[in-house]
Amino acid sequence: MSRNDVPDVLRDPKTGKSYKKGKFLGKGGFAYCYELTDTDTMEVYAGKVVSKTLLVKQHQKDKMAQEISIHRNLNHAHIVGFKSHFEDSDNVYIILELCRRRTLMELHKRRRHITEPEARYFIKQILEACVYLHSARIIHRDLKLGNLFLNDELEIKIGDFGLATQLGYDGERKRTLCGTPNYIAPEVLNKRGHSYEVDVWSLGCIMFTLLCGRPPFETSSLKETYSRIRKNEYTIPTVRNLSRSACDLIHKMLRGDPSSRPQMSALMHDPWLKEGFMPVRLPSSCLTMAPRLD
Ligand code: ADP
Repeated sequence: MSRNDVPDVLRDPKTGKSYKKGKFLGKGGFAYCYELTDTDTMEVYAGKVVSKTLLVKQHQKDKMAQEISIHRNLNHAHIVGFKSHFEDSDNVYIILELCRRRTLMELHKRRRHITEPEARYFIKQILEACVYLHSARIIHRDLKLGNLFLNDELEIKIGDFGLATQLGYDGERKRTLCGTPNYIAPEVLNKRGHSYEVDVWSLGCIMFTLLCGRPPFETSSLKETYSRIRKNEYTIPTVRNLSRSACDLIHKMLRGDPSSRPQMSALMHDPWLKEGFMPVRLPSSCLTMAPRLD
C-alpha cells in the first residue's frame, strides 16, 4: 500500500459516519496514520489504516483482531481512546483519540534526559493506566517511549496494543510472545513463562531512559544487549545525580527475578512519587527544553 491508496473520505458502514482524511501523521510497522475529521461533528481523530495485503497470513489477521478486541473495550484517561473500527475491500480502519504531541520517543530524542519532576509526572500517569490494565487482566507487553503518546495537554496516552494479551485467570503464565518487545524482560528471553511483571520491567527501563538519557542495557548489538539483560548488568550513571529514591525505584522495577518486582498497584505508593515535587501539568516548552519548575 502507498499513502495514495487511502480514499479521501472514509465511511463506517456500521454507524453511517464519514471521516474526511487530513494530515498524514506517521507510518508504523503495519499502519499508515492520518488525521480524520468526523464530517458531522467536525471532531478530529487519528485513523490507522492497515492494508489487507499485509493481513494475508492467519497469524497476522489474528494479531490485528487481538489488538482490536483488547483495545476497543478499554476506557481510561491515560489510554488512547478507541472510537471505532471498520473495513472496506482494501483496508482495515481504526479510529482513535488524536494525540497531537507525538510520543515520549520524540521528547527523549530532543531532550535526552529530563528532570525528576517531569519523569514523576509521566511515570505516575503510566502507572495509573497500568493498574487499570492489570486489574482487567491485560498485559501490554510492549511499553516503550514510542507507544506513550502525548495529547495537547502533555498527558500520557498508552497506545499500540499489538502485543497485548489478556490472561484467562490471574496466576496464568504466558509461554509465547509473537513479536519483539523493545524493553524485553529476562523471563521472556528465557522463555520460562511471563505475566504482569514484564510491564513493570519495561516501566523500569522507561524511567531509566527518561532520567539517564539512554536505555539501561543498550549496546551496539542486540545479542550483547540480551546477554546484559540476562545478567541484570546495568548501572545508573552518577553524573545524572539522581535522588536516592529514584535509584531505589529503578532498581526495584529492574529486579531480574520477576516474583520480586513490586506490582503496579504497590508502585503507586512509592516514596519517589509521594515525596518529590509533582507538577499538576507541564508547559509545552518541555518538548524542547527543561522547564523551570518552581
Ligand atoms: P503500527 O502498529 O503499524 O506500528 P503505530 O501504532 O506505530 O502503527 O502508528 C504509526 C504512526 O502513526 C505512529 O508512529 C504515530 O506517528 C502515528 N499515530 C498512531 N496512533 C496515533 C494517535 N492516536 N495519535 C496521533 N498519531 C498516532
